[in-house]
Amino acid sequence: MGKDVNAKAALLKMHEIDSLYDKVRRRILRLNKAAEGSTELETLREEVDSIDQELQGTRTEQQDLELESRSLTERIRESESSLMSGELSNPRELEALQSSIDSMKEHRTDLENRSVERLVMVDSLQATLENKQNNLVRVEEEWTNRKNALETEFEQRKKEYLYLKRAREQVAEMLSQENLEMYEHLRRRKNGVAVALLEDEICGACHTQVAVGILNNIRYSDELLSCPSCGRILLTEV
Ligand SMILES: [Zn+2]
Repeated sequence: MGKDVNAKAALLKMHEIDSLYDKVRRRILRLNKAAEGSTELETLREEVDSIDQELQGTRTEQQDLELESRSLTERIRESESSLMSGELSNPRELEALQSSIDSMKEHRTDLENRSVERLVMVDSLQATLENKQNNLVRVEEEWTNRKNALETEFEQRKKEYLYLKRAREQVAEMLSQENLEMYEHLRRRKNGVAVALLEDEICGACHTQVAVGILNNIRYSDELLSCPSCGRILLTEV
């Protein structure tokens, strides 16, 4: 490993920048994902749509039943007037007409019952729809506010990201090529974390006890040493 006086300070700084840099990068990705849309809003919109369709369908059915019942009433009236007119004298024909009137009336009662059922359904669907629509307005408003907040934070994080990127470039210039390559290599291999801070006598990354000889070297010499257990560069915080 390389040996230069400022290496430890620069690596420590690099480590601090990178932990922030990674956090900001992850946050940016999450913000971006969150801004894509609200599941609650989508679900609610679909619900409103489906209730509205059901309402329209039921309303049409009710109107059709109403029309059918009205035209049946007309036919009943015609039959009844021909029954009363005395035009028919044949008892079998009269009986047949009466029976046809009876069955038309029965059918009309059925139509009327079904029409009333639809009417009640329309009323209930309308109430549900109104409720959902109010809900939708509220959720839409909330989502607009949330989206604005996400966008504001996104802009802020983007600035932080660019600032850290530049700071990182400056610190990278302070490191020797050899140390920089070692750092980047470790970062790739060690889950994005190349440096471990000593916490008393323990590696802050893998929590292994570090031998006294190594500890003394880390504390009192400029030499860069790595944790014997996890391989990360061991540094002490200033
Ligand atoms: Zn370690």
